[in-house]
Amino acid sequence: MEKAGDGEYPRLFGTNGIRGIPNVDLTAEFCALIGRSIGKHFSSGTIVMGRDTRSTGDFVYSSVLSGVLSSGSDVIDLGILPTPALQYYCKTRGLYGIVITASHNPPRFNGIKCIDSDGTELDRAEEEKIEKIYYARDFSEVPWEGIGRAYPRNGAIDQYHDAILGQVDVEKIRRKKYRVLVDSGNGASYFSTPRLMEKLGCSLVTLNANPDGRFSSRDSEPKPENLKDIMSLMKTGGFDIGVAHDGDADRAVFIDETGKFIDGDKTLNLVVSSVISEGDKVVTPVSSSDAIDEVCREKGAVLVRTKVGAPVVSRTMIDEKAMIGGEENGGVIYGKHQYCRDGAMTAALVLNLMAENGKKISALISGLPDYTIVKRQAELKLEWPELLDRLAEHSSVEEADFTDGLKVIREDGWILIRPSGTEPIIRIYGQSKSPETARKYCEEFVGIVDVLQAQT
Ligand code: MG
Repeated sequence: MEKAGDGEYPRLFGTNGIRGIPNVDLTAEFCALIGRSIGKHFSSGTIVMGRDTRSTGDFVYSSVLSGVLSSGSDVIDLGILPTPALQYYCKTRGLYGIVITASHNPPRFNGIKCIDSDGTELDRAEEEKIEKIYYARDFSEVPWEGIGRAYPRNGAIDQYHDAILGQVDVEKIRRKKYRVLVDSGNGASYFSTPRLMEKLGCSLVTLNANPDGRFSSRDSEPKPENLKDIMSLMKTGGFDIGVAHDGDADRAVFIDETGKFIDGDKTLNLVVSSVISEGDKVVTPVSSSDAIDEVCREKGAVLVRTKVGAPVVSRTMIDEKAMIGGEENGGVIYGKHQYCRDGAMTAALVLNLMAENGKKISALISGLPDYTIVKRQAELKLEWPELLDRLAEHSSVEEADFTDGLKVIREDGWILIRPSGTEPIIRIYGQSKSPETARKYCEEFVGIVDVLQAQT
């Protein structure tokens, strides 16, 4: 576990909540105590809870729930739903929330993620307060008659859909009668996204739309090697677009009408270029390609780069009054709807663009600047600050950016090396207009990281 800022206790929350293996890291006792800590911290009377389709969801959910109820808070139980649907529920009611999800992680993992009363992911400082309560065992003492109650609620998904439909030209999309293939990957969008597509007048074929917490059809991360089925089905023709989500559906990636995977970076640029005008601000992490610099420059918009991680992008968007932002992995944040990644909102925006322009998705994408990002990962064998020092010294003659890890900037591309916020691994990215150069840069630093970690 990562050390806390002051080094006094290990951190529990990573970039996307607390993640771990149920019955190993996430024991019933731990989850209940975290539930008590969150209940004490929010002390709001009512907390909204929901979860994804993981097979350990019942276990983790009910363990956290028992802690929250024991702190005296009531719980509104939304059941299984996409994370952004719960965030929208929190935002519109000014309630805090907890989602039991490990997003795209393998099925053995689960996680606990806290949502602020404005619907955004809870920020670091607030998470640290929860950790302090946990370590100090500074819980609320509640007599039996003060213990909270849990109330199941229906309708959150329909309200969420109404909000999404309010952001696009529904009639225009409906008239197009798009044929859409949706791959929910057995995750939390299994009901929600197909239903939204129906509301948009699409004729629909679903893939992996059975909720299966072991993700037996495909790995939950929506990357090309996990999306072979949808890509090959798209190749059979007859579909206008394919949509695939990660486990909790805050992300969406797209497959074009010929079966070609559209990189998340391209989707981000497509949506950004369609909604910005002169003077607007756009927020994205250092890991997005330089295409977004070109898109912003062309429109006279201002680009703000942040550390990697959706919560920091959302916060920066609010601070900078930016209406659009997002990540290169298929996580688009549309502030007019809500300040969090939202896979279904992204899918609706892309259909809206296709309908407005009367163009196929491949044609819309082909008009964008073309960059390649190659990603690798390596085991983290040293403490990260030590490895970062070694990397910085190794690359001391090059132009560097330390916003998040080390970004080595070269004339025809860049290399980013940073620790994962959710797993004990290092992520290495190579970016260039030339796919060859992107690959070469990435491999170069895979080698460098290996050598630097082997030194004593
Ligand atoms: Mg996710």
